[in-house]
Amino acid sequence: MSTFYYKSHICKKCGGSCCKRVPPFVFPKDVLIHYPKKNLTQAVLRALDSGNWQIDWWEDETKRYYLRLAVDYKKMSNTGQGIAHKVMVDYYRERFDRVFDGTWGGYCIFWDEKKGCKLLPSKRPFMCKVMNPNEDFKNCRTDKKYKMEKLDYARAWEKSNVDLLNLGTIADNI
Ligand code: SF4
Ligand code: SF4
Repeated sequence: MSTFYYKSHICKKCGGSCCKRVPPFVFPKDVLIHYPKKNLTQAVLRALDSGNWQIDWWEDETKRYYLRLAVDYKKMSNTGQGIAHKVMVDYYRERFDRVFDGTWGGYCIFWDEKKGCKLLPSKRPFMCKVMNPNEDFKNCRTDKKYKMEKLDYARAWEKSNVDLLNLGTIADNI
């Protein structure tokens, strides 16, 4: 049984430092929490269509795709980081589809400066639930056993047999 932490009061005080660094990567089960009555492929299509989720990738010799929450470019539009992101996202949108975004980081779509995380604690991705916020806002930690790399997420999506590459390109047509 995983240990989940819901210390939103600390994160609100902190101002969401990690929520503004990069949106969390997600496992298939994180998507099903939001779209429980769908099979996984349908759930992913609904998620992509909402605009709150995007497809990212881990790359070495080949690209391996995974899902994560979307970057909120509106909130970042006045920052240099936001402008740089936008250029890259426009490039991928043109070539592939709006749902692909090989981001370098950015504000999570569910971060709100006044309210903190807009998601109910139970609806947050695993990666957010296992993060243990610390009062000093610096030593927030994830237990070693729950620490996952991008590749772990990409592998989980490979095992799911959901064809993220093709789903991404047809999501606008459903
Ligand atoms: S987990 Fe830590 S760094 Fe992230 S928002 Fe909460 S207090 Fe800030
Ligand atoms: S889902 Fe919520 S807790 Fe997780 S990064 Fe986004 S705003 Fe932060």
